[in-house]
Amino acid sequence: MKDIGFFPKIEREPLSDIRKYQNTRLKDLLNYISTYSPFYQDLFKREKIKLSSIHTLDDLNRIPVTTKDDLQQRNHDFLCVPEEKIIDYITTSGTQGDPVTFAMTDKDLDRLAYNEAISFTCADGSASDIYQLMTTIDRRFMAGLAYFLGIRKMGASIVRVGNGIPELQWDTIRRIKPNAIVTVPSFILKVIEYAESRNIDYRSSSIRKAVCIGEPLRNTDLTFNTLGKKINEKWPIQLFSTYASTEMSTSFTECSEGIGGHHHPELIIVEFLDGNDKPVKQGEMGEVTVTTLGVEGMPLLRFKTGDVCIHYNEPCRCGRTTIRLGPVVGRKHQMIKFKGTTLYPSALYDILDNIEYISNYMVEVYTNQIGTDEILIHIGSETKLEDREKDIKDHFRAKLRVAPLLKFEPEAVLHKMLHPETSRKPVKFLDNRFKNAGPNNSRR
Ligand SMILES: [Zn+2]
Repeated sequence: MKDIGFFPKIEREPLSDIRKYQNTRLKDLLNYISTYSPFYQDLFKREKIKLSSIHTLDDLNRIPVTTKDDLQQRNHDFLCVPEEKIIDYITTSGTQGDPVTFAMTDKDLDRLAYNEAISFTCADGSASDIYQLMTTIDRRFMAGLAYFLGIRKMGASIVRVGNGIPELQWDTIRRIKPNAIVTVPSFILKVIEYAESRNIDYRSSSIRKAVCIGEPLRNTDLTFNTLGKKINEKWPIQLFSTYASTEMSTSFTECSEGIGGHHHPELIIVEFLDGNDKPVKQGEMGEVTVTTLGVEGMPLLRFKTGDVCIHYNEPCRCGRTTIRLGPVVGRKHQMIKFKGTTLYPSALYDILDNIEYISNYMVEVYTNQIGTDEILIHIGSETKLEDREKDIKDHFRAKLRVAPLLKFEPEAVLHKMLHPETSRKPVKFLDNRFKNAGPNNSRR
């Protein structure tokens, strides 16, 4: 088997061969970090880990996981190169407010470009495409730059419009005639709304597909969620869901089959762990835990992303045999145990997004008098909705078998709650479960 363009042959080999390949790459990584990473040198010493005893991916469970707290508290100790080798500095949100700095070398930027080139190729991309980038390329983010580098490497064209400004987006579509967009999917709805208000015939525009980032488009059964459906009903372009993060510097991107994001075995080892850091079976929810391969600046070993996903092992009709990741169902710490059901806020959002007469909402979770999780949904509307209470609860019962408590508020009051001055994004989830538990109180 040979590489075909940016479709590496390792992605078409049996899973057992992929594991063998990754065993070798794991050894290279362990040698590298035990030589250059102060953090991992300390960890191996403290935990008395002999690298000679780690041979395969199955031995990984002998090494403790790395957490976001580790990254936050010992940020500089993760750096494996002298500062003069750093090209690009990036920050990502930490656990306690202060951002974590990531440093990338020249080689890391090449790796990032390669990652996006194979990811865009996976999402039916080719050198003949023109991508309109509807996401920012600066602000210390990795993503926008990564897309630019990857699309350039693939030999396709790009027009960098940045986020927001629907008018400029449509002006660009009219002038350049791109066939693809790269965007946060909820922004597509804004772009459609603008087109409708100006009588722009968006369905006849040059756009045929969207590479979607940052928000899930699918339910856990891989059908479109409310957001995916809403976009598709209005504008039947092909939607590709992707999942990525700064820490892994790698993306999991859907192919045209749309059944989960494909794993790139050359770039990352991925595990799915339960609450005790033990692997979960395919089809079960597990925390995505990654080990980066080929990263020079700040490689990570068994890093717990906090994202919970379901994974699938069967080969895909696109020819790839690699593991696929379903949508991120939630953040590990946002898990709610509600009346015997385990769920994440995204499942609640999906139901609420589907009820036409609800303008906005906020999901609050708190600990009730018997010490278990209780869900209270604040619902905003311009009109009185009290008589709809049963209808709303029935929507929840139909999907989740249980119904949360509801509280109705004027839309404007809720708008204020959703947009605190300290946050750039709306805060839809309010976790009051540890309200009286001590020091954590101050940051909630
Ligand atoms: Zn596929």
